[in-house]
Amino acid sequence: MNEPPASSVRSVATAIDSPAEVRAWSDATRSSGERIAIVPTMGALHRGHLELIASAAGRADRVIVSVFVNPLQFGEGADFEHYPRPIADDLRACDDAGVDVVYVPTVATMYPDGFATTVTVAGLSDVMEGASRPGHFDGVNTVVTKLFAATRPDVAVFGEKDFQQLAVVRRLVRDLDLGVEIIGHPIVREHDGLAMSSRNRRLNPQERAAATCMPAALSAALEHAATDGSTVDGVIGAARAAVTSQPLAALDYVEVFDSSTLSPIRRFDDHQRRPGAVRIAVAARFGTIRLIDNADAFDTFG
Ligand code: AMP
Repeated sequence: MNEPPASSVRSVATAIDSPAEVRAWSDATRSSGERIAIVPTMGALHRGHLELIASAAGRADRVIVSVFVNPLQFGEGADFEHYPRPIADDLRACDDAGVDVVYVPTVATMYPDGFATTVTVAGLSDVMEGASRPGHFDGVNTVVTKLFAATRPDVAVFGEKDFQQLAVVRRLVRDLDLGVEIIGHPIVREHDGLAMSSRNRRLNPQERAAATCMPAALSAALEHAATDGSTVDGVIGAARAAVTSQPLAALDYVEVFDSSTLSPIRRFDDHQRRPGAVRIAVAARFGTIRLIDNADAFDTFG
């Protein structure tokens, strides 16, 4: 596909599937003095993704959305195979949102035979999602590095929905001098508080109803943190109870941790009792679908 120069007027987003082409577009765009923002996604776009795109559009002249279901970040099992891929809807949503380029590489393009490189961020990747999903962050880091290399963005927008991912990517960018500004966007929720996720559409009606125990767990934890004591045990207990009392939920973890280092916190010191310092995360399975959610321990929720 021949990409028109960045200055030409397009009515629709251009879909590009090769790294060389997207890099050529990016180089031409940057040499004309325009800033580029990227929103990396796995598609099945929802309002959460659209908010990230709007944030990106406010920070750059041109917006790239990548849609790539990255096999490297999935573990064993069928989650990768069954991940929703409504690509026509996604392209339309990107058009409507004024996206300039939708980068849709294939697995074979991203990981050709002989692909041998893995990007590992030690420490931050080892807890929570990293502990529950071995290899997950290596997959995320490797694909994010490749996406940044191909698209050379000035700024990238990620959701706080994947709070640990945001922390890991910030570290990756700092450690490898990638020079990409990383923006975190607040979690976008359904009317009943459930964090929007492409996986929600795979829940059956009973599981979807049960999944509201995730935001309920966070609300209970925050209420406990605001009103009770200095230890976090009660906070964790309140969150755990909200999930374990739901028969269709299988709790994976509840963690209370330092927002920057992701280290677990056992006691709240006075300086931690402020927005931005401490985070609470929860992960649970509903049937075969694994959901995650998190909240600031000392900020308003929802
Ligand atoms: P995904 O397509 O699930 O890999 O998500 C792509 C990006 O959108 C990631 O940075 C996610 O953190 C972000 N995202 C997904 N769901 C939400 C949400 N409900 N609110 C805010 N950001 C989200």
